[in-house]
Amino acid sequence: MSGLNDRVAIVTGGGRGIGAVTASRLAARGLVIAIVDRDKTTAESTADAIRAAGGDAIAVQADVAVPAEVAAAVARVVAELGPPTVLVNNAGITSDNPLDEMTLDDWDIVVDVNLRGPFLMAQQVRPHQARAGWGRIVNLSSMAALGTRNQANYCAAKAGIQGLTKALAIELGPEGITVNAVAPGYIATDMTEAAAVRLGVKFETVQRTVAAQTPVRRVGQPADIAAIIVFLVSDDAGFITGQTISAAGGLMG
Ligand code: NDP
Repeated sequence: MSGLNDRVAIVTGGGRGIGAVTASRLAARGLVIAIVDRDKTTAESTADAIRAAGGDAIAVQADVAVPAEVAAAVARVVAELGPPTVLVNNAGITSDNPLDEMTLDDWDIVVDVNLRGPFLMAQQVRPHQARAGWGRIVNLSSMAALGTRNQANYCAAKAGIQGLTKALAIELGPEGITVNAVAPGYIATDMTEAAAVRLGVKFETVQRTVAAQTPVRRVGQPADIAAIIVFLVSDDAGFITGQTISAAGGLMG
């Protein structure tokens, strides 16, 4: 796969889960990585692991939903690593409830982190990409964009991400920037483990049930999603933009 060496990539929510594996995979391809996460400790541990493997990475603490923190994080990346031309908008959260029990806080925090965050990050990173005449933005949507129970906030945000992806692809394409989304199905991470705990079911039991319903007969792993992101940020993917790539083992929603 061509054209990744020495580019600066920001991976939000790279402290753990899909973001951590994506950051490591991009570093292994020669990109210089900034882990932007609200949790300093996990961000540092991903950056440490990348450096231990011979890569180059820094950890930057920021909440992607807060404009001043996003601006400061991107400024720090520019100062310490150089202009970022790759942005992986991976940070995400859930706060599930049925509609009549969903609080405004449930709604706001999920929409703020999953949808406002990628918008704010893209706004800050785009000038650097435009100046380079080359850029890649990959946003994390979800199969939940098609609708799931007790996740009106998350489904709306993840469907919104697909619209944001198409809009930015049209707007930024002339500047050499591609914008795509990945919509994972069930991936075994802390996020899905927390959901199992909330339901009072063992994580292994949920995974077995989901695997049995999935055509490829397994749940997804963070590496399944990282591989798609690595491809989408490469030069080889330069004619793909505005797309949402589903990776759900054959589950159709
Ligand atoms: P995890 O919960 O395992 O990790 C999410 C990471 O994002 C954590 O490091 C978390 O930090 C960080 N984060 C959360 N909120 C913020 C914020 N406001 N600012 C900065 N960082 C933040 O999630 P996954 O790896 O499972 O998911 C990654 C992405 O993929 C998300 O967008 C998710 O919606 C999406 N996705 C996941 C699926 C799955 O099955 N796992 C399926 C479909 C989509 P902290 O440690 O402080 O919480």
